[in-house]
Formats: sequence, structure tokens, C-alpha cells
Amino acid sequence: MPQRKKVALITGGAGFLGSHLCDQLIEREFKVLCVDNFITGNIKNVKHLLKYKNFELIKHDISNEIKVPGSIDYVLHFASPASPVDYLNYPIQTLKVGSRGTHHSLGLAKIKKAVFFLASTSECYGDPQEHPQKETYWGHVNPIGPRGVYDEAKRFAEAMTMAYHRVHKIDTKIIRIFNTYGPRMRVKDGRVVPNFIYQALHHEPLTVFGDGKQTRSFCFYSDLIDGILKLLFSGIHGPVNVGNPGEFTILEFAQLVIKLSGTESKIVYNPLPVDDPKQRRPDITLAREALNWEPNVKLEDGLKQTIAWFKEHPR
Ligand code: NAD
Ligand code: UDP
Repeated sequence: MPQRKKVALITGGAGFLGSHLCDQLIEREFKVLCVDNFITGNIKNVKHLLKYKNFELIKHDISNEIKVPGSIDYVLHFASPASPVDYLNYPIQTLKVGSRGTHHSLGLAKIKKAVFFLASTSECYGDPQEHPQKETYWGHVNPIGPRGVYDEAKRFAEAMTMAYHRVHKIDTKIIRIFNTYGPRMRVKDGRVVPNFIYQALHHEPLTVFGDGKQTRSFCFYSDLIDGILKLLFSGIHGPVNVGNPGEFTILEFAQLVIKLSGTESKIVYNPLPVDDPKQRRPDITLAREALNWEPNVKLEDGLKQTIAWFKEHPR
């Protein structure tokens, strides 16, 4: 008898990361069910997949209950506004998708006896007082500040995931994703990578927030997707940091974007958003040792590819 194809359901599958994951799973001959309500996603990200009979698009808000017929082997919960601008625009939706959306996705994994994979975030560490951040660090989050809607929703999602693992014995995975960039990010999603590239390509000033001394560590999407797949098929249940440990100040990052895009743009300084983390860098010892994963793409190379993509897709 021919073997049944493995089935993966991805919430947030029409977003930046979710759509790249759909691509990779289709390439690996999975049947992919992509669930999205398009609050921050775009049909263009998955349009090329609609021709495959193994790919199904389900327009649904995962903060509402979901019923899906048939077998499901993997539930990957990626749905959530992810850019600070997006989650400040949609604070209640962000809280709901992190709490109710996670609960519904876990419920689906439980009933289907599927592996559950949570896309969590370095924001669980808040404005960290430990540097670099290890998975054992509990974080420093302002629960009632504007970013709290995202940070606390993700922290709740992690807690719920571990509870389902302990109580219902679900095979769970939690990835803590550090700033990841690349093709298919929305030009206007507000995150620093698309913002600076858009500004540079339009010869507008690059808007550095604060004094630009805050740091971030930028991971190219292909490295991240590789880490996701390694974690998905691993035996690890607790959180794993996946990101690029190369650390840059935002000012250095702005200067690099200006250099690589060959623009005349200058830098302007705007106020720092409330609770903006001062430093962020993943300790990836666990991913290195347990998953044999580490990033390969240098910031300069990933940025060149991303700038080229933004030039070709001025949307
Ligand atoms: P994105 O905004 O491009 O993708 C999110 C997707 O989720 C969108 O397609 C959106 O329409 C969908 N969505 C949101 N709420 C939904 C709901 N209630 N029901 C159904 N679909 C819904 O963002 P992204 O960068 O691709 O992020 C994907 C996931 O990875 C998010 O959970 C985010 O928190 C996490 N993450 C991303 C990064 C990063 O640097 N890109 C860092 C940390 C964590
Ligand atoms: N940032 C900036 N200018 C912008 C957008 C962002 O200086 O136009 C800064 C922001 O204040 C933060 C960093 O860049 O310190 C990364 O911001 P992003 O929105 O990409 O994500 P975060 O890491 O804060 O979640």
C-alpha cells in the first residue's frame, strides 16, 4: 500500500516565515494546510503554492475554534502579528492569538495526536538583564507596557504548550526566534529591516530610534527555516533559541544598509519606543549541541539578497 503523505497544518502560513515554511514542507512532499486570516499576511506569499494538490489554503481566524477533517501529523502555530508596529495596532488580536489561538492549536494537536510546534520569540526575555540570552533566563518583561501584549501572549503560549506536554503528553517543540529577515517581509511592516531598506531605496532618511546604540542580532530566513525543521524532527520539548549571534547596534545596521543599497540617504534620530530592549543576542549553544544547527548566512550577504528582492517587489 502506498504510504500516506505526512500532513502539516501551519497557522500564519501566509506570513513571512509561515510561507517559507510552507514552501519547504511542500518540497519535502508533505500535505500542507495553511491557515491564515490575513491580518498581517499576504496571499501573494503563497499564491505560487495554490497549484499543488498537496496545498490547501484555509481562511480562518485561529483565535476562533477550528475543526479540520482527516489526519494531521504536525501543527505549527505561527499565527501572530510579529512586528512591534503590527502588535501595537492590533493589541487585542495579538493577545487573543497568543492565548486562545494557542489553545485551539494545541487542542487540534491533541485530538489528532500530532506534534505541536510553537513559534515563540526572544521577546519572552523582554529588555534582558542577562546577556547573551540563554533559554534558562526567565526574562525581564513589563506586563502592562505597550509591548506586553506580545511578550505576555507568547509567554502564556509557552506556558500552555508545556502544560499540554505535561498533562496530555503531547510531543511539543518551542522555538524562540530572534530577529529574522528576508524576502516576503511586508515593506511597511514597521520592523527595522524593511523600514531601512524601503527608506534607502526611496532615498529617504533612515529613521534610527533613540541614539541607535541598542543592539539586535539578525538571522537570514533560510538559516531560521533550517533550524525550525531540525527542531521539528528532534526529540526536544522545551524552548530552543534560534537566531544569529552576530550582534550589531542599530546605528551600525543603518550604515550597512546605506552602504549596500548605494543610496544618498542620511540618518535621522527619532524617539525610542517605550520598553524597546537595549540589547539582544541569542546564546545558541543548545541549538548547536542538540540540533547540530548554526547559521551560515552573513548579515551582509543576507541583506544583499533582501535588498535585491525589495527592488524587484515594490509592493
Ligand atoms: P507575519 O506577520 O509575516 O506572519 C504572521 C502571520 O500570522 C500572518 O500571515 C497573519 O495574517 C497571520 N495571523 C495573525 N493572526 C492570526 C489569526 N488570529 N488567525 C490566523 N492567522 C493569523 O510575521 P512573521 O515574521 O512571519 O512571524 C511569524 C511568527 O514567528 C509569529 O508568531 C512571530 O511571533 C514569530 N516570530 C517572528 C520573528 C521574526 O523575526 N520574523 C521573531 C520572533 C518570533
Ligand atoms: N528601529 C529603528 N528604526 C526603525 C525601526 C526600528 O531604529 O525605523 C529600532 C527599534 O527601536 C529596535 C530595533 O530597531 O531597537 C529593532 O526593531 P524591530 O521593530 O525590527 O523589532 P524588535 O527587535 O524591537 O522587536
